[in-house]
Amino acid sequence: MEKSKIKDRVKQLKKEIGFHNRKYYIENRPIISDYEYDQLMSELLDLEKKFPEFATEDSPTQRVGSDLTNQFASIPHIVPMQSLSNAYSFEEIADFINRVEKNLNQKTFDFVIEQKIDGVSINLFYENGILQHALTRGNGSVGEDITQNAKTIIDIPLTINYQKKIEIRGEIYLSHQEFEKLNRQKQENGKSLFANPRNAAAGSIKLKFSKYAAKRHLNAIFYGIGFAENNEFSSHYEILEFLRKQGFMTNSNTKKYKSLAKIKLFCNEWEKKRFDLPFDIDGMVIKVNLLKFQKKLGSTAKSPRWAVAYKFKAEEAITKLKSIEFQVGRTGAITPVAKLESVKIAGSIVSNATLHNEDEIKRLKLKIGDYVKLVKSGDIIPKIIEILSQKRDGSEKNFEMITKCPVCDTKLVRKAEKAIWRCPNISCPAQIKRNLEHFASRDAMNIEGLGISIIAFLVENNFIKNFADLYKFDFNTLKSFDGFEEKSIRNLEKAIEKSKTIPFERLLFGLGIRFVGSKIARILAEHFGSIENLRHSSFDNLIEIPEIGEKIAQSIIEYFNDEKNAHLIDELQKFGLQFEVKKNEMNEQKLAGLKFLITGTLLNYSRSEIKNIILTSGGNVSSAISKKINYLILGENPGSKLKKAEKIKTIKIISEEDLLKMLK
Ligand SMILES: [Zn+2]
Repeated sequence: MEKSKIKDRVKQLKKEIGFHNRKYYIENRPIISDYEYDQLMSELLDLEKKFPEFATEDSPTQRVGSDLTNQFASIPHIVPMQSLSNAYSFEEIADFINRVEKNLNQKTFDFVIEQKIDGVSINLFYENGILQHALTRGNGSVGEDITQNAKTIIDIPLTINYQKKIEIRGEIYLSHQEFEKLNRQKQENGKSLFANPRNAAAGSIKLKFSKYAAKRHLNAIFYGIGFAENNEFSSHYEILEFLRKQGFMTNSNTKKYKSLAKIKLFCNEWEKKRFDLPFDIDGMVIKVNLLKFQKKLGSTAKSPRWAVAYKFKAEEAITKLKSIEFQVGRTGAITPVAKLESVKIAGSIVSNATLHNEDEIKRLKLKIGDYVKLVKSGDIIPKIIEILSQKRDGSEKNFEMITKCPVCDTKLVRKAEKAIWRCPNISCPAQIKRNLEHFASRDAMNIEGLGISIIAFLVENNFIKNFADLYKFDFNTLKSFDGFEEKSIRNLEKAIEKSKTIPFERLLFGLGIRFVGSKIARILAEHFGSIENLRHSSFDNLIEIPEIGEKIAQSIIEYFNDEKNAHLIDELQKFGLQFEVKKNEMNEQKLAGLKFLITGTLLNYSRSEIKNIILTSGGNVSSAISKKINYLILGENPGSKLKKAEKIKTIKIISEEDLLKMLK
């Protein structure tokens, strides 16, 4: 390769890795698997090694990925939190051991081998036996103060016997059981799911309210110390013993070995048994045991030289692609799904893989009947990364994108610049199901008992074709079918009746107009006050509103121009649903006698708007903290009022949403 091309490639890799670092560490929503990420990283490392002139200090290979978000106060670590260098083979472990032996000028000494938990690093600082603060890794030198959330974790002792200043290092994680519970809840509420337990833990530890963090039931395991005022320890093993005695959760699957052969056996053992553990591990950590050796070996800018992480191979499997099926989403988007011969991967049996869209299939050059390599590293849905074209025998069939909806047979449409095909038929049963699920979800009409399976039943039996049918259908009809009890039918009827009182903004959200999420629905409801005003508004009226862009405006206009939608709204109005903001809604004196204080930036309202809401509902707004305050409304980047309010027990700290709930 030419030098200039190599330079470009290095630049591109840095940019790409930087982008994925942000997705992983800040947004907790990685879009590539760890395997793919590691491949980018090792390509960059390789190029930097061969062409040191392109290795710069700001390269992601030289820095710890940062989780800093500015949403929490930052506090420096006394001793920086480094990240470990990775080894992907036992040759690399052998290299590591050789390097250590050479540097220490000595052979045969102890290594401690422990499981590498795939969670979020934490640094606890204790003084006088009391937990002073808990920090994330941050950028390695400075971490974010997540003390309130950390205090809700059962494995973190709030007090210890040891009285001197000490930093304790460990990993926060979410057990498989809690992870599944959390994602089940998210699915029921129509929210997007966490890709894996690590992302869920990272999101949970940074929740703004510790009462919500407490509900996530996080765990923690501790494996080391950073700063220690009295440097009284002589080995890593001794530190683990100390941690246990002080009441910290430590990992019992930890061993001390001298030889590579034993280390290898132990690593292999856990690579096989990893899926039996209640939490995710992504490798093993090998550390030099004696601290005097660790000190002598020192560290690079990014990682210690006395430890290495042996990373397990991303779970791969090879199987046959039987067919490609198509799912229809709420807005008619068609998603291809690979149907595979069942294969075991990462501890579970898999028979589906996502293919995203037509272009992805073409990029992979996939044929039906191909053998494919799947990869899964903690992700929920495995991904096809490679086609084994040498295994083709000529019987494979070319993939052809469908032209009609697999459910309703309507001709699909695709806008030139988009990768997605859509079914344009709003009466498409698949779309009706997804739409009803959205309509009934908690943030919309909150119809309890109207879940995925009953919706499927109602739509497949042609009982319900649109939202209006929910209010017309005689649910007693269900009595003649198996599996419907009198009591659950009555409850469902009640829940549907109750939904008629749901305020306009949530009904508007429930209608499922493209790009109209709950926040936009609230803005529209407030601005227009009623569906009549909204449906007669022009494109120009709409884009005058600061939060409404052309895409949203266009979508709203298209929605109301469709006669079927106009008819649906007319029908729903007859059933008494709330298509106007109630005039007296805000004037009710629901907050009479209550005193509020606001700190930080609010998400949906300006200060003056929220003040107005409180005042017109009979409440009072103060500008300074006092014992007379009942509620502190907490926005982003709160000021000193928060700390002061926390000291007064009678002040309740609430979010903007909590306040709106009080008004409902
Ligand atoms: Zn369709």
